[in-house]
Amino acid sequence: MQLAGKRAIVTGSNSGIGLGVARELARAGADVVLNSFSDEAEDHKLAADLSAETGANVTYIQADMSKPEECRALIGKAGGCDILINNAGIQHVARIEEFPTEKWDAIIAINLSSAFHTTAAALPAMYAKGWGRVINIASAHGLTASPYKSAYIAAKHGVVGLSKTTALEAAGKGVTCNAICPGYVLTPIVEKQIPDQMKTHDMDRETVIKEVMLSRQPSGEFATVEQMGGTAVFLCSDAAAQITGTTISVDGGWTAM
Ligand code: NAD
Repeated sequence: MQLAGKRAIVTGSNSGIGLGVARELARAGADVVLNSFSDEAEDHKLAADLSAETGANVTYIQADMSKPEECRALIGKAGGCDILINNAGIQHVARIEEFPTEKWDAIIAINLSSAFHTTAAALPAMYAKGWGRVINIASAHGLTASPYKSAYIAAKHGVVGLSKTTALEAAGKGVTCNAICPGYVLTPIVEKQIPDQMKTHDMDRETVIKEVMLSRQPSGEFATVEQMGGTAVFLCSDAAAQITGTTISVDGGWTAM
């Protein structure tokens, strides 16, 4: 198995893209640590089910990615990692002049600062082993902007910048860092935006999906969590050992426009 003997931590992985990436890493043979800020019986069951499905060792560790000390403690509790996937993220849609300060702070903390803290905690062991992969789940919104998503877009552009700096500091140490930039993927974070977008644009659900979301995606299709997972597994392969400090768009052509 390609990733046998490697331990992966995926932040924010009890749903959506994080869970999809965790599943593909487990299928490739990695031990996987799932994370979210809840600590429900269903989180541990999810880990047990993924373990049974893939044959990999999958566990769950609770840590709130809005809290710097919990981000760092996650890496310690897992016993370090060879592969770090910074995926946890939230969204809020509002005009800048109406954007709640607490939403701005939470988005910057969870979508950007958490990646800084987990990376800082994970790098020393990666350097000691001479192998590591840091993969940040940014967004097409890390490369382009849209109205009403100021905090998210600022955070995701920040994640792209953090990925480049991490790559430069890690260069020559066997450790790479890249950002995957998904277009729209139909996960809970996108489902939750649909009512706000309907209100903001005064449109029904189907029109928002077609004219607001997928209008940016020339393929006219949502990207899938399996495609994000496959891209992450590729970035962990030997073929990707010299790919570092860059972005990989999985966006149906969005950022080509
Ligand atoms: P999602 O809502 O399904 O997943 C978000 C995950 O983050 C969940 O597992 C949730 O538990 C976790 N999370 C939220 N707050 C947390 C906290 N304080 N501590 C720990 N975990 C926390 O959404 P998703 O679409 O799977 O999003 C995953 C990532 O992909 C996000 O960073 C998002 O910005 C990015 N992304 C998503 C899309 C898309 O279209 N779905 C596009 C581009 C980028």
